[in-house]
Amino acid sequence: MDINYFLLLQKKYDEMIENINSIIDTCDDIGVLTDEFVLPQDKSLCTIFNSQVDKDFFIEKKKHILHLKNICKQYIQNACCHEFVEDFIDITPDKSQPVTYCKLCEYCPSSLSNFEHIYTKRG
Ligand SMILES: [Zn+2]
Repeated sequence: MDINYFLLLQKKYDEMIENINSIIDTCDDIGVLTDEFVLPQDKSLCTIFNSQVDKDFFIEKKKHILHLKNICKQYIQNACCHEFVEDFIDITPDKSQPVTYCKLCEYCPSSLSNFEHIYTKRG
């Protein structure tokens, strides 16, 4: 299997996670609006526009997408003929830290969190 398939898939899952995060934020906004405008004794409206139910639904979907992304990541790490390069990542505006990562798949052997950082940084 072409490793580019999994690399592209991983980016698509990142896009999905970003979109789901936006939906989850919107559920919170709807919850605030409902609390502000709907009286607690109006049970039917509180039930229909219960944003917590929708939020829970999307949180579950997000977990599923994260699971798929992790599977992609495992395929990539196993299939890639890693070509490691040295680089520096910014920790603060005036402080950076050396890091080694694969220029093909961005896998960072020293730390998974660094890998995430590079991946996020390069979008
Ligand atoms: Zn690699």
